[in-house]
Amino acid sequence: MGTTDSTDTADGTVPRTALVEDLLERFPHVPREAVFKEDLLRGGMAFDESALSDTGNEATGDVKPKSYFIFSFDHGTLPELGAAALRRPPEEIVLTGGPYDLRRTVVSVRVNPASPYRVAAGDDGVLGLYLDGRRIADVGLPPMPDYYRHKLANGKSVMEVAPTIQWGYLIYLTVFRVCQYFGAKEECQYCDINHNWRQQKAAGRPYTGVKDVDEVLEALEIIDKYDTARTSTAYTLTGGAVTSKIAGRDEADFYGHYAKAIEERFPGRWIGKVVAQALPKDDVQRFKDYGVQIYHPNYEVWDRRLFQLYCPGKERYVGRDEWHRRVLDSADVFGARNVIPNFVAGVEMAEPFGFTTVDEAIASTTEGLRYFMSHGITPRFTTWCPEPTTPLGKANPQGAPLEYHIRLLEAYRATMDEFGLTSPPGYGPAGPGRAVFSVSSFMDSLAPQEPVAVTRD
Ligand code: SF4
Repeated sequence: MGTTDSTDTADGTVPRTALVEDLLERFPHVPREAVFKEDLLRGGMAFDESALSDTGNEATGDVKPKSYFIFSFDHGTLPELGAAALRRPPEEIVLTGGPYDLRRTVVSVRVNPASPYRVAAGDDGVLGLYLDGRRIADVGLPPMPDYYRHKLANGKSVMEVAPTIQWGYLIYLTVFRVCQYFGAKEECQYCDINHNWRQQKAAGRPYTGVKDVDEVLEALEIIDKYDTARTSTAYTLTGGAVTSKIAGRDEADFYGHYAKAIEERFPGRWIGKVVAQALPKDDVQRFKDYGVQIYHPNYEVWDRRLFQLYCPGKERYVGRDEWHRRVLDSADVFGARNVIPNFVAGVEMAEPFGFTTVDEAIASTTEGLRYFMSHGITPRFTTWCPEPTTPLGKANPQGAPLEYHIRLLEAYRATMDEFGLTSPPGYGPAGPGRAVFSVSSFMDSLAPQEPVAVTRD
């Protein structure tokens, strides 16, 4: 097999606790918070009914619900999630205390009813995280933000149009909820954006395919008015790839015109980021001219063969070498610090094509980190969630081995140190107990640092 943890067997004979404690012992310099966070992100968590909201799909209770901001990030389809599909789980949880004395750790919620991690209320009614039945941390839930309690004039919710994640730090604007890479020959093999759109619609949830720019502005108006603590600091414009046009606009103009409208209405109120394909330099310049400050041309997976197999649409329309060239070129426009390409950590080890040893996978991933970091560009990563409707998720329901994720944190930090880089701008504070970035623990595992401002360099 090679791609599952040796102690993480499907028959459950060896509890997950043993695997985690072994890694905690072998990698004492990786913060323990990051170890648990990676395990929760790669394998998900179950929810007792006592830990679910009572508000169904409406944002009316006391807890901020999971918004399904782009992908499903669940280990089952909505019909398979049972109560968690009808009574929404929280967007994130925050862990503290327990036998491992965890510092404050924000974790994005990925639901998996079969996970050995379970969120439940104890006898005293206080929520906790249980691993193999043992309470390992206290669980805090995100309070419903005031701005979620207000609707747009047309009745749409702020959560649908402009949800926030990372404990309110980031406004996540998936303005195009599907991808024009469509079907098995084009979709990235780990991505369920198109399936998630279909399942949200099938469940009767409001889930707008292409968001109207005026609706986005109206939702931001509400956030700006009610976020009196000014917790929201950045917005991300994102969605599927645009290979033809949407309403007459190519990809740069489509995503860029939202940024332009936002920056005209709220100049400098938030750090503007765009996740888009690696585009030619003229297009990248248009993003910049529209007021975008950070550009994420995600390179997904470093290895050449795996990129070709996993990202067939990107390979066909752009090609890996050209993709990388464009990432480097975009540093001329944005400054190297403000180009932050993402990769999906873990797919390197997915069967049937991935590396079969952690050593090989880490060596390949580190080669990619060194390539970009030697040019002053700091990639970042999200932890792969093996969603069951994707080809890679279907073949690898356990995701990648936890050891891969822990060693990646180690390699990431070492490579940053080698090239004299610090945490990237636009991610809030770094360090265990401080980070808010919720879909990987890269910020939890770096040295403590105040939020890095966006600068021209
Ligand atoms: S480009 Fe790939 S990862 Fe991005 S939305 Fe399309 S299919 Fe998903």
